[in-house]
Amino acid sequence: MRLILLGPPGAGKGTQAQRLIAKHGIVQLSTGDMLRAAVAAGTPVGLRAKSTMDRGELVPDEVVVAIIAERIGQPDAKRGFVLDGFPRTVPQAQALDRLLAERGLKLDAVVELKVDEGSLLQRIEKRVAEMTANGEKARADDNPEVLKGRLAAYRAQTAPVAGYYAGRDMLKSVDGMAPIDEVTAAIDGHLGPTGAAKPNGPARAKGPAKGAAKPARKAKPAKKGSRKGTARRKRPAPKAAKRAKRVKNRSGQRKNRTRRRLTRTR
Ligand code: ADP
Repeated sequence: MRLILLGPPGAGKGTQAQRLIAKHGIVQLSTGDMLRAAVAAGTPVGLRAKSTMDRGELVPDEVVVAIIAERIGQPDAKRGFVLDGFPRTVPQAQALDRLLAERGLKLDAVVELKVDEGSLLQRIEKRVAEMTANGEKARADDNPEVLKGRLAAYRAQTAPVAGYYAGRDMLKSVDGMAPIDEVTAAIDGHLGPTGAAKPNGPARAKGPAKGAAKPARKAKPAKKGSRKGTARRKRPAPKAAKRAKRVKNRSGQRKNRTRRRLTRTR
């Protein structure tokens, strides 16, 4: 199973990714975590990325694409993975398509967590409070000033990635404002038992919570072979069937009457 979680900072991608890896026995590939590890280890990539990350901007595509290319080839990623924080630009999405095609692999689903932007700052503040309470060091970019930059980067560079996958009929939208368990259930609702995505259309996540950003609900044409559009055509409408029966009966009665009249005149 290979899937992508999309959504702005604080949308809950990491939380949902943890649940998906526990359930499906796959690995979480978070470019944010990998980059933070590189920064902490002082690797050349980390040294290059640090100041960009501290400003809340995106590190160059070629840096993250190289990281992902190396990572998806590792043995623990063979069973599948959930990408969290990648792809974050359309060129990254195109690079991922190429990387997967070269390896004969396919994506199963792209799940977008839709959230109300107004609540993101509160979520980030909560995360900082929780990390501090646990004795962990809060992320350098988890503060109101940098969050503004991260949101701006999201709107300008990452939001179009959802359109990229919607255009390929792969995007599943979930209401990220719902309680954590409901979000998990909505994601599960889009995935079949093996983790493969269900076809778009009949299976939909629950409606958005109050104040949530509206998921894109485009009316989709009925799919070939789907029940929509075919089942009805096969069976005649009940009214038409009744009328046909009446006509048949009437013509039968007429025939009988004619036969009786003919025998009487003979
Ligand atoms: P967020 O919580 O904002 O989703 P992440 O932990 O995914 O943040 O990433 C933190 C920072 O790492 C980003 O603000 C960005 O600087 C960098 N980063 C992570 N993933 C990517 C990516 N795919 N492309 C470019 N930069 C990235």
